[in-house]
Amino acid sequence: MLIVPERDIADLMTPEAAFEAVESVFAAMASGAAYNFPVVREAIGHENALYGFKGGFDRSGLTLGLKAGGYWPDNLAKRGLINHQSTIFLFDADSGMVRAMVGGNLLTALRTAAASSVSIRHLARKDARVLGMVGAGHQAKFQLRAALKHGNFDKVIGWNLHPEMLPGLAEVAAEAGLPFEPVELDGMRAADVIITIMSSFAPVLMAGHVSPGTHIACMGTDTKGKQELDPALLARATVFADEVAQSVTIGEAQHAVAAGLIAETDITQLGAVINGSHPGRTSADQITLFDGTGVGLQDLAVAAAVVTLAERRGTAIEVSV
Ligand code: NAD
Repeated sequence: MLIVPERDIADLMTPEAAFEAVESVFAAMASGAAYNFPVVREAIGHENALYGFKGGFDRSGLTLGLKAGGYWPDNLAKRGLINHQSTIFLFDADSGMVRAMVGGNLLTALRTAAASSVSIRHLARKDARVLGMVGAGHQAKFQLRAALKHGNFDKVIGWNLHPEMLPGLAEVAAEAGLPFEPVELDGMRAADVIITIMSSFAPVLMAGHVSPGTHIACMGTDTKGKQELDPALLARATVFADEVAQSVTIGEAQHAVAAGLIAETDITQLGAVINGSHPGRTSADQITLFDGTGVGLQDLAVAAAVVTLAERRGTAIEVSV
């Protein structure tokens, strides 16, 4: 069995490798070659923790496994550890033997950022130049860094409920040599692409804040009850998701579907656009929306990529089982 510890991930994994891994597993999901297992998520009644498993199997790459982890709200204050903790386990699809154990904390941020970047590549207008960020927390910086690597933007604008967090986004824009401008939500009308990534339980980005032709990657809503967008935006947009079943239960579409504004059948898997079986954006005025809820197969795809990189570099720790 190989171990790739959390401390090694930053040196091994790149946004480019994460992009490729996530793009190809989304395509495999849409073609039926890969599927996610039902998610287990439990309040364990200890340390206020939420703990669970996200797993799946990709027959095309023979990637089988799960991510185990969750949220310990007091970790930072009590232990100086980050609140989200996860570990990914990969198994040999032929024998069931454990193959690898991989630190999942940084990989979660990289695979989430890769998902929105893949949506931007396949759904945004090719002339998109202004990137709007709504949210400025831990994930937002990864989202911005990945989007700037894969898009052709020349300006970043941003809004956050807590404006004191916006300089973190300005720093990431500066790394890419781009200007950053804080705006009110109304100012998001200037954006060609908008990424939303907040811990919000009520709509923040309203239909009037978005111009025709925009691509929105809605990345913060990954649990029942969370919400970032005005449901009217989903009714106006052509909606795509990593996985439709998750989109309507724990994703942003849960609210528009419950309000009867859209139906589950109105939502297309992003992988169908990657595979070419759905045309994706068909006009410059169309609003496209990606509901990225986060699936186990994304975690397995980036973990498998990191194990390959660690083996190549000779840094994977081998343990006999
Ligand atoms: P964080 O705590 O670092 O940042 C939270 C962000 O939300 C900040 O910008 C904060 O100002 C903002 N915010 C908090 N309360 C708000 C409110 N009521 N209204 C508007 N904005 C509010 O969190 P993070 O790690 O950056 O995660 C952000 C979200 O992304 C969380 O909801 C998290 O569960 C989700 N997430 C999704 C995926 C996925 O695959 N889709 C993966 C990881 C995290």
